[in-house]
Amino acid sequence: MKVVIVGGGIGGLATAAAFHRQGWEVEILERAAEFTEVGAGLTIQPNGLRALDLLGVGEVRRIGRVVDPPSGIRAENGTWLIRNDIGALKERFGQWVTVHRAELIALLLAELPADTLHSGAEVRQVHPDGTVEHTAGTTSGDLVVGSDGLRSVTRRSLWPAGPEPRYAGYTTWRFLAENRTVAQSVETWGSGARFGQVPMPGGRVYCYAMANAPAGSRMGAADLRDRLRRWHDPIPALLDAVVDESVLQHDTYELPALPSFVTGRVALLGDAAHAMTPNLGQGACQALEDAATLVEHVTALGIAEGLAAYDRARRARTRMVVRRSRQAGAPAHWTNPVLTALRDAALPLIPGAVFGRSITPAYAWPDRTDSRKPQ
Ligand SMILES: Cc1cc2nc3c(=O)[nH]c(=O)nc-3n(C[C@H](O)[C@H](O)[C@H](O)COP(=O)(O)OP(=O)(O)OC[C@H]3O[C@@H](n4cnc5c(N)ncnc54)[C@H](O)[C@@H]3O)c2cc1C
Repeated sequence: MKVVIVGGGIGGLATAAAFHRQGWEVEILERAAEFTEVGAGLTIQPNGLRALDLLGVGEVRRIGRVVDPPSGIRAENGTWLIRNDIGALKERFGQWVTVHRAELIALLLAELPADTLHSGAEVRQVHPDGTVEHTAGTTSGDLVVGSDGLRSVTRRSLWPAGPEPRYAGYTTWRFLAENRTVAQSVETWGSGARFGQVPMPGGRVYCYAMANAPAGSRMGAADLRDRLRRWHDPIPALLDAVVDESVLQHDTYELPALPSFVTGRVALLGDAAHAMTPNLGQGACQALEDAATLVEHVTALGIAEGLAAYDRARRARTRMVVRRSRQAGAPAHWTNPVLTALRDAALPLIPGAVFGRSITPAYAWPDRTDSRKPQ
């Protein structure tokens, strides 16, 4: 059996590695000149770690840093708006790990023979019978996995009338800073903007900032420093520690729900199927869940039944995570001073457990009725 993987990001490579492990022939088509990822961090939450275990890539704990669950949300002056019960989260869900994205890609690549990897191959069209046209020729597989991200050509080939990504109203900056004092993940909310700090391996901190802005607007590190210079410590110091050219900026998009993730011999996976706002840090974790579910169902049930089972298992769950992610970030982007004052007064009164219930369903996977056990 042969699988053609369109797009060699985290979702595509994890899927490829698992099919290779099952003895399938694998061909990965990646349009970029090399297989790599942006210079930023990534949080792999308990469900993502369980998916990696099912995929046989548990080694991620060796290259990453095992960290506590997120400690909560602070106001820009540093007062706590929400404090998570770290002990309870750890006990209930297990580990959180942070990694450098490029190091996770390198770990996945190490699982794959070099002759499965085809960089510089941009896919132009995918057909339901498993034929794939790309810049270097045409190929085909018993199964095609469209893991080609937010603006997926696979999706547009097969669902030409399908929904297009929707701008969330805010742009995101990411950078890595040298800092050994940040030991816990925390997010800070202001008016129409927020800042997150996440401890990484090697004395680095992965930082992100988000701010309301029209799509396509560009703002550099100097503007960010200016905007956040009165926010609580160590935010100004983290911004001062960054090399300006290393700051990445991307607008934030969400993909409206699709009618199906599968057709013919083709499955969509990861951002191609359900791109979401990064508010819960779940996009890659969901791609890993997709990969583990797809490989298991297709190898157990064959292509037709396996794809149908994958679609049933993944669409409702990812739709739930997309919705919760959108809702979790929304109050940070309010700008009305009355609303933000009410928000800052009300949030500390909400018991941590109540707030936790709104985000923890994302961590709970596989669910209790699922018989799968990590390898
Ligand atoms: C600011 C931010 C922070 C985030 N933080 C987290 C986090 O902490 N934890 C988490 O789990 N998720 C996080 N995410 C989400 C996560 O980054 C994505 O969900 C994940 O990377 C999606 O992986 P993917 O493989 O589906 O798609 P992608 O990473 O987009 O990979 C798609 C690949 O396909 C290739 N490709 C595209 N078109 C073609 C074509 N036509 N032919 C061939 N190749 C093609 C691309 O070059 C790329 O390599 C975050 C996202 C953002 C924006």
